[in-house]
Amino acid sequence: MTAPMLTVEAALERVLSAFQPLEPERVPILDALDRVLAEDVRAGEDIPPHANSSMDGYAVLAAATSEASTARPARLRVIGEIAAGYVSDVTVTPGTAMRIMTGAPIPPGVDAAATASAIAVAKVEDTETDGEWVNIHTEVSPGNYIRPAGEDVRQGELVLPKGTLVRSQEIGMLATLGHKEALVHRRPHVAILATGDEVVEIDQPLAPGKIRNANSYSNAAQVLEHGGAPLLLGIARDSVADLTAKIHAGLEQGIDLFLTSGGVSVGDFDLVKDVLAAEGDITFWRVRMKPGKPLAFGRIGGVPVLGLPGNPVSVMVSFEVFVRPAIWKMLGRTDLARPTLQATLMDEIAHKDERRHYVRVRAEGRDGEIRAYLTGGQGAGILSSMVKANALAIIPEDWNHAPAGAQVQVMTLD
Ligand code: AMP
Ligand code: MG
Repeated sequence: MTAPMLTVEAALERVLSAFQPLEPERVPILDALDRVLAEDVRAGEDIPPHANSSMDGYAVLAAATSEASTARPARLRVIGEIAAGYVSDVTVTPGTAMRIMTGAPIPPGVDAAATASAIAVAKVEDTETDGEWVNIHTEVSPGNYIRPAGEDVRQGELVLPKGTLVRSQEIGMLATLGHKEALVHRRPHVAILATGDEVVEIDQPLAPGKIRNANSYSNAAQVLEHGGAPLLLGIARDSVADLTAKIHAGLEQGIDLFLTSGGVSVGDFDLVKDVLAAEGDITFWRVRMKPGKPLAFGRIGGVPVLGLPGNPVSVMVSFEVFVRPAIWKMLGRTDLARPTLQATLMDEIAHKDERRHYVRVRAEGRDGEIRAYLTGGQGAGILSSMVKANALAIIPEDWNHAPAGAQVQVMTLD
C-alpha cells in the first residue's frame, strides 16, 4: 500500500498537534538566550533609578546661562565635582556650577522643588575652565542633557511579557532590572538515530561500500541551533533486532522527540518503517515536497517520533520544515514560521514536478533587490550545494518550471 501524499501544510499541522510547550524552569539569565519567558517580568524600580547627566560637563541653573555666547560667556564658580556612582547634596545656585560626569546623578538646584525643570547640563565642549571658574559659551535650556529617572522603564511597568523570546537585548534588560535568573520553558531533548548498513562513524575506516554518518551531526547541529539538546544514539544496522534495540535504548533516556534518518523509503532494506510501525503508532506519508518526500510520524511509548529521509540534504530540509517548528513549539514560541523574503530567481529551473521544491540558493542583496543564485546540483545527496547555500528558494507546487527572473520567496538559513 502506498503512503498517502500530503501537502507540506497538512503534514506540518499534524506534526505540530503532537507538541506542547514544555514545563518552565528557572535558569541563570545567560542560559535563557533563545528561549521563551514563562512569566511576566515587571520593573521593580525606575530605570534609570535617578535623574543623571547624559554628557560630561557642568550642572548649572539654566537661567544662569541666559544669552551666554563665546563672546559673552556665563561665568560661574565651580563648587564641586560629581563622578558616576556618587551622589552630591551640594546645591547648585545661580552663580555656581558643578563639574558632572556622564551617568552621575543630577545635584539639587537652588529651588529643590523645581530641580528637574530648572537645572541643566552644559556639555564640556561648550565650556572653558579658568581656575576655580568656568565660562559657559552657550545658553542651555532647562533639562538639557538630563536623563530623567524612569526615562527607560517605569517602576511597575510590564517590561517583558510572558511569551517573549529572549535575545541579547532581553538579557540586558533582565540584568538592569536585577534578575539573575529567568523562568523559561525547558529545552527539548531530541534523540537522533542514524540507520543503514552502509553508514559508519566519523572516525571509522571507510571500507568499500561505506559512507560516513553525516546526518546525525547535521541534525544535531540543527537541534542546537534551534534551542534543543541533542542526544546522539549512533547508527542502527538495517536489521529489525538492532533497530528495535536502539530505539528502546533511546526511549529510556527521557526524551521529548525521537528522530531517525534513512530507511523510510521503498527499498528492500528500508526497515525503519516496519520497526517504527511495529513498536508504536506510526503512519507513513509522502509529502508533496522536494527534497524530503518520505516521512514517518507517530509515537512510540508516548514519545513523538519523526522518521526523516536518509539523503543528507533531504534530512536537513525535512528537519527545517517539520522538526524546527516542533522544537520551537516545545520551547514556547508561538510564531513558528521562518520569515521569508521576496527574491528574484537568477537561474532557471527547467523541469519541475507537482511538489513544492526547496531549492538551495545563495541570496544576495543587490541594487535594492534580493537575488537568488542556485548553488549547484540539486540532488538530494549533494551536501556541497547546501554548504554554499544561505537560503532555500521555495518554488510552488503548481509551477512546472521556474524561469530566470521569477519572483520567489526565500527562507534564509543563517
Ligand atoms: P535510505 O532512505 O536509507 O535508502 O537512505 C537514502 C540515502 O541516504 C542513501 O544513499 C544512504 O546511503 C544515505 N544515508 C542514509 N543515512 C545516512 C547518514 N546518516 N549519513 C549520510 N548519508 C546517509
Ligand atoms: Mg538506508
